[in-house]
Amino acid sequence: MPSYKIFKVFGISIELDITFILFLLLVLFDPPLFGFLIIVFSIVLIHELFHSLMALHYKIPVQKITLTPIGGIASIEVPEDPKKEYLVSLAGPFSNMIFFALFFLAANALNVPLKGLTWYFQGGGIDLMDPSSLLSGLMWLNFVLGAFNLLPGFPMDGGRIFRAVLAFRMDYVKATQIAVNVGKVIAVGIALWGLAMGNLFTVVIAIFLFFAGGQELQILRIKHALFGVSLRDVAIPDYRHVAESVPVREFVQNVAVADQRYYPVTDASGKVIGIFDVEYLRGLRVADEGRPMRDFARGNMDVIDASARMEDALSFLLSRDFVLVIEAGRIIGYITPGRLLDVARYQSIRRTAGM
Ligand SMILES: [Zn+2]
Repeated sequence: MPSYKIFKVFGISIELDITFILFLLLVLFDPPLFGFLIIVFSIVLIHELFHSLMALHYKIPVQKITLTPIGGIASIEVPEDPKKEYLVSLAGPFSNMIFFALFFLAANALNVPLKGLTWYFQGGGIDLMDPSSLLSGLMWLNFVLGAFNLLPGFPMDGGRIFRAVLAFRMDYVKATQIAVNVGKVIAVGIALWGLAMGNLFTVVIAIFLFFAGGQELQILRIKHALFGVSLRDVAIPDYRHVAESVPVREFVQNVAVADQRYYPVTDASGKVIGIFDVEYLRGLRVADEGRPMRDFARGNMDVIDASARMEDALSFLLSRDFVLVIEAGRIIGYITPGRLLDVARYQSIRRTAGM
């Protein structure tokens, strides 16, 4: 999903997801709701900034913060260090607790009567013009956001804190496995609560939470299985490629093989000018069979240097269909997610066997 940068703070790019922009456009003609959402998402942004500042404190790079209709995402890859993960995860909910206290103190100092949590849950709504409603709303909003994020459901903040606590005394993968299982139970609980309250939004978040933890666990397992394996070892060296001038018909008859899906398309000097995915053949007609391969090659190809570290490259490699591996300017092979899974499976069998 594309996202658009709106501004930069502490060197971190703040972006709006396209679905979030559409969402805001939908409520543009309802000014009270629009105003309310701007407040909610400012609080969400501050929450993500607290995570990010803690990460930056530990010299962990923060790529960006993306706002989506179901919340904010700070793109931070915390290394496998329980102490750092604990503090980076805690920083977000901590910001909500600080603001909860600040709005409480502000209301007391200004002699504004505060409304209770039941008022908030009954959908009292924040009235920007009424000090009591505004301060109560902001106070409870922070309380609810902080408390919700502290639920020990991985991959929520509370689940990450829980995993970090486990990881102080056990293997990281094992700790994640336990946190993900607990997270699934919590997600089911949240979904049931959402259904009982008739709140579909909460149900959607619960469904997302139910699956997100498992995905992260799988990536972690692959990462651990591939520990010490270089990109050079994983790259499939013997691959077929095709010259740009070759007609499609000839490619199908003489070059394409069943166990290779992507083909680098090269110019006369042997330089790769694009990639041909066998799936493109589905869209071709009989009239196209005499046309050269260059007409169908996709130009924007993904490449990676063979010297990149596996743990840094993994999420990139798993998110691309096909990546060419380059060493000293030469292609030495290619990597697909399927290939990574195969090598990871083989490595873990080998490790279990102790060989
Ligand atoms: Zn958070």
